[in-house]
Amino acid sequence: MIIAVDGPGGAGKSTVSRRLAERLGWLHLDTGAFYRAATLAVLRAGVEPADTDAVVAAVGAVRYRQEMGRMLVDGEDVSGAIRTPEVTAAVSAVSAIPQVRTLMLRYQREWVKGHRGDAVVEGRDIGTVVFPDAQLKVWLTAGLAERARRRAAQTGEDPALVEVELARRDRADSHRVVSPQVPAADAIHIDTTTMSVAQVVERIVERLAARESPGLTYPLPDG
Ligand code: C5P
Repeated sequence: MIIAVDGPGGAGKSTVSRRLAERLGWLHLDTGAFYRAATLAVLRAGVEPADTDAVVAAVGAVRYRQEMGRMLVDGEDVSGAIRTPEVTAAVSAVSAIPQVRTLMLRYQREWVKGHRGDAVVEGRDIGTVVFPDAQLKVWLTAGLAERARRRAAQTGEDPALVEVELARRDRADSHRVVSPQVPAADAIHIDTTTMSVAQVVERIVERLAARESPGLTYPLPDG
């Protein structure tokens, strides 16, 4: 089974998806980390971002893996390096290139096939493009100011600057031609602005149980 968790930056996808996967004992895949890793490869290659052919070549020149929540590029753990402001600023442009998306799509589908388990997969286009047949699709949102506050708390950046950057990425990710960031028609929408992570996870678990069988419940988490 696949649960697709999509939505804009700062809506809570990563934290919720990780906790949900732990709660259910399922695998977790962060697809944003693949696009960030591809962007890191581009920045390291020093190619001109506007030179699409060179960008595609740089992205394709290395191998990507995600294991135990760590993102690897040619075997190097880049989990920290893909979270820098430089990568964040460039990632929307790199991920809008169709050839990059085709390659990442293959990695993401192969990851799920290779790991052979139920998985919580988070991103921008999981329910619409990567796994359109996912058994449960969730679209997480939150107010822009709250999303910026959460991101700034994680990175130590100025919330006002983070808000501008998030708004810019929202626009770029939602307006690209291939796989724009839009909710799947059959996704359940959860506005997390005033919800705790635990509440969001419970809401999803309830929807999963209701979908599987009206009588089925998952054990409550410890504590
Ligand atoms: O979720 P995160 O902020 O790490 O995603 C970084 C960027 O990767 C997004 O802004 C988006 O441009 C791209 N992305 C994407 N499709 C996905 C996941 C992420 O285009 N499935």
